[in-house]
Amino acid sequence: MCGIVGYIGNKKAQEILISGLKNLEYRGYDSSGLALFAENKIEIIKSVGKIDNLEQELEKHDVSGYKIGIAHTRWATHGEANVKNAHPHQVGNITLVHNGIIENADILKEQLIHEGIKFKSETDTEIIAVLLNKYLEKNFIKTINKVMEILKGSFALGIIVKNDNDKLYVVKKDSPLVIGLGNKENFFASDLTAINNYTEKFIFLDENEIAEITQNTVTVYKNMNIIDKHIDTIYIEQENKGKCGYPHYMLKEINEQPKMLEITLAKYLENINTLPNLSKYDEIHIVACGSAMYAGMIGKSLFIEKSHIKTIVEVASEYRYQKNFYNNKTLVILISQSGETADTIAALRKAKENKQDTLAIVNVKTSTIAREADCSLFIEAGEEIAVATTKAYTLQVAILALLSLKAASDKGLINDLEKYLKDFKKIPAYLKNVIDKEEQYKKVAKEIYKNNDIFFIGRKIDYSIALEGSLKLKEVSYIHSEAYQAGELKHGTISLIEKNTPVIAIITRSDIFDKTMSNLIETTSRGAKGFIITVESLKQSVDKEICVPDINDFLQPLLVIPVLQLIAYHTARLRKCDIDKPRNLAKSVTVE
Ligand code: GLU
Repeated sequence: MCGIVGYIGNKKAQEILISGLKNLEYRGYDSSGLALFAENKIEIIKSVGKIDNLEQELEKHDVSGYKIGIAHTRWATHGEANVKNAHPHQVGNITLVHNGIIENADILKEQLIHEGIKFKSETDTEIIAVLLNKYLEKNFIKTINKVMEILKGSFALGIIVKNDNDKLYVVKKDSPLVIGLGNKENFFASDLTAINNYTEKFIFLDENEIAEITQNTVTVYKNMNIIDKHIDTIYIEQENKGKCGYPHYMLKEINEQPKMLEITLAKYLENINTLPNLSKYDEIHIVACGSAMYAGMIGKSLFIEKSHIKTIVEVASEYRYQKNFYNNKTLVILISQSGETADTIAALRKAKENKQDTLAIVNVKTSTIAREADCSLFIEAGEEIAVATTKAYTLQVAILALLSLKAASDKGLINDLEKYLKDFKKIPAYLKNVIDKEEQYKKVAKEIYKNNDIFFIGRKIDYSIALEGSLKLKEVSYIHSEAYQAGELKHGTISLIEKNTPVIAIITRSDIFDKTMSNLIETTSRGAKGFIITVESLKQSVDKEICVPDINDFLQPLLVIPVLQLIAYHTARLRKCDIDKPRNLAKSVTVE
């Protein structure tokens, strides 16, 4: 969600800033802007819409001489997406960019208006600039500390101070910020994707830290004290960058799943005992948002059915505020691709305040959740650029399946662990096989892409899979879609079934096959166009049926997921949607 980039060095700042912003585009934004700084001169250029528009604006200015700058992609929280509200914001000697949200903006703004301040924008960000300018003193770190005491909410800031030449300042609170170290140049960004073309050395700021950055130095402060920070060396393979011939990142990432699954599972399959022993817990809370929460739903089914552990799944934005019941045998599992999801971080902190054991499943190893959880299991998804997750979700499901298998084995509920582990080794090849049948899924897409409403149905674990299939479809194709427990449809929603409304039934288990089939027939009898996604052993050899190979119950969901992803992808393609960057969505949701 939104992004920040900053540069100070000897190169043309605007080029580095634009390339950084382009690498952050996947996070979702609605406007962009940058400020270039040299010898007390500050040039601000902004535009609405794509970075290309900002580049066109830039061409109207001669900015080639600037070597220092800050840039921003905005995902509006306060005020429309227009040029006036786009960042950077300038007040007096302060020019800044901001990721996050100021929660006490209304009160602060009222007070400041009362003091005679006139605001130029509707943003909460301008309040920060006003306050920094108001309390500006020679020691700017003191100024920042003072303003931080006043602000509530989340803010990653990149700041230029007029008269404080050859320097940039950054601040981090509840919104990610990383500094990149170069040779006679330094960078900062909300995400290392923006700057990892230029450096492999990074400093990750922790909560409430401030840094003063010059061309040759980075000084990090906590309150007024200088602190030592660890420098991480992170190399991101260039070969995986770009679309590698695929028309969209989403399709590339769907096709990467077998390889990423192999890499992720290999780590644990070599020695399954590197996974935590969950048999000591009698209750698991899985807390996450969006697709990660739906991965958690599959985990819940497996923990209950296979590991016999009572499990609940909660949406992080609810969990953080609701009453939760813990005992000394409760484990809280947090799932987040980026590890920066604001609500999931808050849920993690709540669990820790309540002295619960916490286990994170994340992709980004340097993320806040990875650093703060008691134990972290990493999925090796690599960079995921398409806003709608595919490979990260699949790997989250795989880790949960492995955790539940291990718990079942630790509890003595299964005694042929080796046999199951062999299937885990086979799963990447099976998955590839399923993905290769893409033409079949394209046919389904052709049959549904003109519809306005689509329903997915399933029972038990199939319902959890259906939830993700439905979410994927609506995210990328903008078709209204809902997932229902198959038996629940007739308690209300069946009234929405009209002639040709697609209903996609997912049925991977023999014990509920007839039940879900009956529910599907209830809809086709009322005009629906029914589709079945099932396993070879339950094959009906009927029209509109897709079969995936059979595998053990822990792994079966993994073979259905790519079918649903590819149906969503091809439906969106037929509808000519902006597949990698769907409207209104952001990749990593760093605000509440
Ligand atoms: N809250 C700020 C705004 O609405 C910043 C949003 C962002 O993080 O892009 O302008």
